Amino acid sequence: MSLANSAFLPEKPETLEPTQPDTAAGPISAMVRDMLVALGEDPRREGLVKTPSRVEKSMRFLTSGYQTDLEEVVNGAVFESDYRDVVLVRDIDIFSLCEHHLLPFYGKAHIAYLPEGKVLGLSKLPRIAEMFARRLQLQENLTQQIADAVQSLLNPRGVAVSLECSHMCMAMRGVQKVGSTTVTRALLGAFSEDSKLRRELSMLEGAGQGGRLWGA
Ligand SMILES: [Zn+2]
Repeated sequence: MSLANSAFLPEKPETLEPTQPDTAAGPISAMVRDMLVALGEDPRREGLVKTPSRVEKSMRFLTSGYQTDLEEVVNGAVFESDYRDVVLVRDIDIFSLCEHHLLPFYGKAHIAYLPEGKVLGLSKLPRIAEMFARRLQLQENLTQQIADAVQSLLNPRGVAVSLECSHMCMAMRGVQKVGSTTVTRALLGAFSEDSKLRRELSMLEGAGQGGRLWGA
């Protein structure tokens, strides 16, 4: 890149027209261009020309959970079963955006339930978590929504959901605490009422990171 094209020595008149057409540009792209200008950037410079459409595509992916619902995600994968002991899917990767700052939070989810005649296809638990995570969220609400979804699908004897996440809005700005994580849990039915069940869940999880999340 020559000096003449750098942001320091603009040789073109001050117009906001992009140097190349941005074919994927949609309504979010236009707003991102405005934001770049408001931040004092030049959206025509080489590195930023396609940024608005990249951000639009990225934001649409990161919030694609709005375009789907529980029925579509589960797709009929509810099965009759006599199995009654705990089902636990742990260490499910969570990537979401906090609704207060639109900054990422990420970590692990652990989802457990006690079946009562019905079980869910195992891959559906991570898919349910992903559907709610790909919306603008609070970790507290995300935790509860996952638990309520499992409850509504299976009407099991109990549901326990725990999330442990790092929030970029706490690490990069605000209190700027990098190492801290936030733990949330939602307990329904038997898991809410019976501390012995929660201890068994902790034992089942072993000494791993999640083992302490359920409480006594
Ligand atoms: Zn935030």
